[in-house]
This record gives sequence, C-alpha cells and structure tokens, in this order.
Amino acid sequence: MPIHVPAHTQSTAKGVAAILLTIAIFVVDALTSLGIAIAVLYALVIILGAASLDRRGLIAVSVLCVVFTLVAFLFGHSDTFDTDAAIRCAISLCAIIVTTLLSLKNQEAMLQLKNQAALLDLTHDAIFVRDAGDTITYWNRGSERLYGWPAEDAVGRKAAEFLKTRFPIELARLQAELLETGRWEGELSHTRRDGSELKVLSRWSLHRDQHGRPAATMETNGDITERREAESALHKAQAELSHVSRVTTLGELAASIAHETNQPLAAVVTNGDAGLRWLSREPPNIDAARMSLEKMISNARRASDVIARLRALARRSEAEHLPLDLNEAVDDTLLLVQREIAERRVDLDLSFDPALQAVLGDRVQLQQVIINLVMNALQAMDDVEGPRRLRIATRREMAENGQNVVLEVTDSGAGFDAEKAGKLFNAFYSTKANGMGMGLSISRSIVEAHHGQISASANERGGATFIVRLPDAATGDA
Ligand code: ADP
Repeated sequence: MPIHVPAHTQSTAKGVAAILLTIAIFVVDALTSLGIAIAVLYALVIILGAASLDRRGLIAVSVLCVVFTLVAFLFGHSDTFDTDAAIRCAISLCAIIVTTLLSLKNQEAMLQLKNQAALLDLTHDAIFVRDAGDTITYWNRGSERLYGWPAEDAVGRKAAEFLKTRFPIELARLQAELLETGRWEGELSHTRRDGSELKVLSRWSLHRDQHGRPAATMETNGDITERREAESALHKAQAELSHVSRVTTLGELAASIAHETNQPLAAVVTNGDAGLRWLSREPPNIDAARMSLEKMISNARRASDVIARLRALARRSEAEHLPLDLNEAVDDTLLLVQREIAERRVDLDLSFDPALQAVLGDRVQLQQVIINLVMNALQAMDDVEGPRRLRIATRREMAENGQNVVLEVTDSGAGFDAEKAGKLFNAFYSTKANGMGMGLSISRSIVEAHHGQISASANERGGATFIVRLPDAATGDA
C-alpha cells in the first residue's frame, strides 16, 4: 500500500521551503554581484506557494518578491546606475509576473476541476474510477458511505480484490463487451468494510486516451440489496397466496373430486364382485374374470391418477420451469373439473393443436391458471338459460421473436362490459357474492412470470374469451 502523507503536512513543508528560499535569494541578490539574474529564482517561490496559497496569498507573495527584487537592486546599485543590472532586474521582474499569472490561471483551472469533482460527491451513488490495471484512482463520498472505506484507504487498491467483487458472468465476457461498446451494465456483489455483502446495480463507462487505448473505467454503483430482498419477499408472498388460492379452489371442487375418486372406487368393488362370481361358476369363466380384473385395475388407476393430480396441485413447492405440453396440462385439469362441467350441462368443445410445441413452465402453476379460467367460465354461465358452451382451444401463433403457444377459453356466459375489461385482472375485483377477486390477478402473475400475456375480451354474441399466450420452449429459453 502506498505511504500516505496528509495534505496539510505537505503544504506546511512547502511553505517553510518557500520562506527559506526567499531569504536565500534575497541575501544572495542583495549582498553579492554574481552578474546573473538571481531574482529569477523567485519564480520557484511562487510555484511552491501556488500549491498551498489561495489567489490573494499568491498575489501577496508575488508583490513581496517584486519588492525584494527592487530593494536588492536599489541596495546594490544605489550610487551608480548599472544598465546590465537594470536589465537583469527587469528580466527577474518579468519572470515573477509571468509565473504569477500562469500560476493564477493554473489555480483557477484546478479550482474548476475540484468543483466538478465535488459535484460527484453530491450524488447518492457510489462512483469510483479505476485505471487500466484495475487500480482505484478516484473514490467519491458516495463510495465512502456505501462501502465504509475512506478515499485514502481505497485509492491505490485493486478494485475487484478490494471489494471482493462477484460477477454475474465471466469477467472476460464482461470486459469484451466493455471494450466493444464502451459500456457495461449489470448486477454485482460487493463486500463492505464491515464484511457484509451487498448487491449493486453497476454501470461502467470506458475512457480511452488520445491514442484510443483503454485508460480508465468509471464505475457507478447503486445499492439494490433492499430492493432485491423486497422482491424476493414479494415473490414468496405471491407464491403463498397462489398456493392458498389453489387450495381454496380445490376446496370448492371438493364435491366433484370426491365423485371423481368415488366413482372408480365403486367400480372397483362392482368389478371385484363380478370377477368373484365368474370364478365361482362351475366351470369358472376365466376370460370373463380376467376382464373384470382388468376393469378393476383401470378404475383403480383412474382414482389414483385423480389423487396424484390433486396432491400435486395442493402441495406447496418452489416453481420449476420445465418443458411441458399444454394440451396434456389441459387434459389433466379437466379430470378435476369434468363433473362441474357435466352437472351444469355445459357442452365442452375441445380443439387441441396436435403439433403444439412445448412451453417452458411450472405444471402446477399453469394448471392453476386453467382451472381459474374454466371455473370462471362455468360460473359465468350459471344464470344463462340458453345453450351453455365452453370451448377450450390450443393453437400456435407467430410472435415477434419466435412462436407463441396460445390457449383460448371461450364461454357463452354473461360476459362483461367492455369498460370493465381493464379491471378484471385487478386484485380483489369481483362481481360474485362470494368471490375473492384473486383468481385472475394470480393467473396474470403466473402467466407474466412465464414471460407470457393474458387478455380478456367480450364476445360479439355474448360470453367472454380469455386468451393466454406463452412463448414456446425454444423462444422462452433464448
Ligand atoms: P372471482 O372469481 O373470485 O370473482 P376472479 O379474479 O377470478 O375472481 O374474477 C374477477 C371477476 O372477473 C369476476 O368476479 C367476474 O366479474 C369477471 N370474470 C371472470 N371471468 C369471467 C367470465 N368468463 N365471464 C365474465 N366475467 C368474468
């Protein structure tokens, strides 16, 4: 680490040096006759003074040097006028005045730069600059606040090592992008002085020298630790809510589900009885008994299928994104709601695209969307006297950056007013006496988490159509 000498110690040393130098020049100038313009050396005094004095102080020192030069000249040549000495005195005076003017100009430029740099201290963001070798050369106040390190500790250190930076992608790839575009933006992990880790949104800008070579990188970092934590808490709360809503829906479907499992179980018993009767015949009818056993097995499978799907929907688990067939997901879901459909005497029209591509998604979550849409459609048709039709269709559609897989749920129910269309997906919006108003809101979060869209429209001839668009696995993966 470089040895750091405090700024005030440096300027005191320069002040003492300037005073000693002034005295030495004056003594040599006044008491000796070297035949050279020794007072020119006052320029050095002014240069030394410029580093620590303000504008007024510098002018005062400069006037003092002029006075000393004149006094020394008059002291040495009071009796006779020496042209050479007068010219030397004039040269020295010129040197003092020119050096003073240049130093004043330099001081002004430095002040301007300092003011500009001070502006960087006003921002809340942490800004630092690192040279081509990753060594920190500038560290603003925002960085001091964010990381807990003062500038004097940070300047001179290797940035990535100092902040224990963790990059989201390979450093080489990141640097290649920076070199190509001059910019990079992304999330990084840094470690503070107290050892705590923080997430920052980092923006890098590359500065090149006059030959176009990378000279420095300015890094602006904003703390997003809290935002990320809030997002993850929100995500958890949403998942929790979605789970509760799923379990509530399953509760509403309890009668249907009981029937879906009870019916095959009753069939198992009937087939078992029949099998026994075939076997107790004299002679036993083996073929008929085998058929009864096969029916028993298929009915038991059906009951266990329903229970397996039910358990999958009721379980609370982290969302997983795997390739899945939407036609299959609709089929599985219908198993749970088909009695609701049959009891309400609804005509079900299924139109599956057999060549549908897979989507990348969470099966349980997407089934929840399908159940919500189907149950809403059925409930919307409850008060309809005429024919009740439910159409569920899947199809493919070209999208901007690939293909979409589309699911359409159309009913011939009460529909909704066009101006209400925007509200349907709002949380707690419900027109039902016992409605929670969460189904569509949760469905939208799920679809959007799958990078898809959900929309609703009122049909011309009554009823409503809900459309879910999801990118296919190839597009969603890209
Ligand atoms: P809930 O079913 O508890 O009311 P949702 O979020 O599922 O909550 O639905 C919100 C509202 O959207 C419903 O109350 C209803 O007014 C309207 N809605 C949903 N689906 C349909 C549909 N298929 N036809 C007409 N209106 C619908």
